[in-house]
Amino acid sequence: MATIDFEFRNEIIKSDIGSTLAYCYQCATCSGACPVAQVTEGRYNPRRLILDALLGLKEKIFGAENAFNIWGCTMCDTCDEVCPQKVELTEIFTILKNKSIERGEAPAYYTGQASTVLEHGKAIPMQPAIERRREQLGLPKVMEPNVEEVKKLLGATKLAEKLPPKEA
Ligand code: SF4
Ligand code: SF4
Repeated sequence: MATIDFEFRNEIIKSDIGSTLAYCYQCATCSGACPVAQVTEGRYNPRRLILDALLGLKEKIFGAENAFNIWGCTMCDTCDEVCPQKVELTEIFTILKNKSIERGEAPAYYTGQASTVLEHGKAIPMQPAIERRREQLGLPKVMEPNVEEVKKLLGATKLAEKLPPKEA
C-alpha cells in the first residue's frame, strides 16, 4: 500500500498554483478530454495523477517505473480548459516534472532535447540533407538562431546544472 507523504502534499498545496489541487472532486472531465489519455486508452490519466498528488502518494508519482505518469503529458492545456473546478492541472504537472528532474528521473529523450537546444539554439539543428531538400523544393534558407543569445537566456535558468552529465 502506498504511503501518504504529508510534507510532499503540503509542499504542492501551499504553492500558489498548487492550492487549486484541493478543489478537485474527481469528476474525470480532464481524463475524458485529454488526448494522451485517449491515445493510450487510459494508461496516462490526469485525474489519477491529480488524486495521487492530492493524497501525497509520492511513490506512485516518482520512480523510473512511473515516469510515464508524469512525462506522458504534452502540456496541451486541454484539461485546464475543461476542468469545472479550475484546477491548474498543467501547472501542477509542471511542479511534478520539476521535482522529477531534481530527482534525476527525467526521461533521456527530454534531457537530450534540452541539451540540443542549449548547444545549437534549436531543437532540430539544420543538416546538409535537409538543406539540400529545401533547395530542391525551392524553399528559402532557414535563419540560424543566435546560439550565444539562447545560451545566455538558458544560463539564467541554470539549465546546464539540471541536465545529466554527458557521457565521455
Ligand atoms: S476535471 Fe478538474 S475536478 Fe474533475 S477530476 Fe479533473 S482536475 Fe479534478
Ligand atoms: S495538458 Fe497534459 S494532462 Fe492536460 S490534456 Fe494535455 S496532455 Fe492531457
